[in-house]
Amino acid sequence: MKIYFHPISLEHRTPSGHPECADRISRLEGYLKNRPIGAELEWRLPAPATVEDIARVHDLDYIHHIRDVCQGLKGDSSQLLDGGDTWAVRSSYSAALVAAGAGLEAVDQVMGNGDNQTFVMMRPPGHHARKASAMGFCLFGNVAVAAAYAREKHGVRRILVLDWDVHHGNGTQELFYGDSGVFFCSLHQSPHWPFSGDSGETGEGDGKDYTLNVPLPSGTRIGRYEELFYKIIRPRVEAFQPELILISAGFDAHLEDPLGGIQLETQDFGTLTRMVRDWAETYSEGRVVSFLEGGYNLMAMPQSVERHLLALNE
Ligand SMILES: [Zn+2]
Repeated sequence: MKIYFHPISLEHRTPSGHPECADRISRLEGYLKNRPIGAELEWRLPAPATVEDIARVHDLDYIHHIRDVCQGLKGDSSQLLDGGDTWAVRSSYSAALVAAGAGLEAVDQVMGNGDNQTFVMMRPPGHHARKASAMGFCLFGNVAVAAAYAREKHGVRRILVLDWDVHHGNGTQELFYGDSGVFFCSLHQSPHWPFSGDSGETGEGDGKDYTLNVPLPSGTRIGRYEELFYKIIRPRVEAFQPELILISAGFDAHLEDPLGGIQLETQDFGTLTRMVRDWAETYSEGRVVSFLEGGYNLMAMPQSVERHLLALNE
């Protein structure tokens, strides 16, 4: 299977001690290359997305703002982009364009002939990025940009975005909240940052009932996830009949993750993946593009990604 990675991901530096650090990706790359799964992976070096690609979901003024902030930074200096903990350095704009561009190449791959399952191993992550602002370590909504591209370039009419990161994918939700062509489904810890994703948030206008939020209390284990996948989510996926499945694959619902309280174990990410694979085989001709979102324990995350890739590659 193909894995999309570019070393510019490592140049998006965050302040010392920041959980969303370049070490995440370098550890993950090293780990995967030294495991048996490494022999199955074809590494692809993606190109940047264009501004036009990003502007399908983000305001042009915001894209230019990120570009200008980054171009104005000298040397190793960094700048806070929001009221939280989302930072930029000089290379961050380039890294964010390539992170989004990787998703577009992965979409082209699964919509063409050949491998139908791919993984995008890039940072900065994307699912918190809002239409006109950075948020939660995210600059551009990589999954959202990919969904909009799949629709425009490949004529995909129904796209499922499944987000199992421990944090609610508020950015992706916002970008497609009034859109019936993208079914956004998020399982996340609640109450927890960013404090959105209540089960009453179901979409608006044409997008009414095309958002499904499944808030979970701290301490939730895999058995509850399986129950919800089968009883609540699968019937909705069946009704929607997705032609393409995008996964916002966060690994911060792991029990050892410092940023969440969910109790998933390493192998559970294989279990989640197999359930989504099953949907993909049934509805979307196997087409799945998975994007790395969170996951901040530098031991647990690479091991969990390995289980995810093994199950995607089965
Ligand atoms: Zn997260």
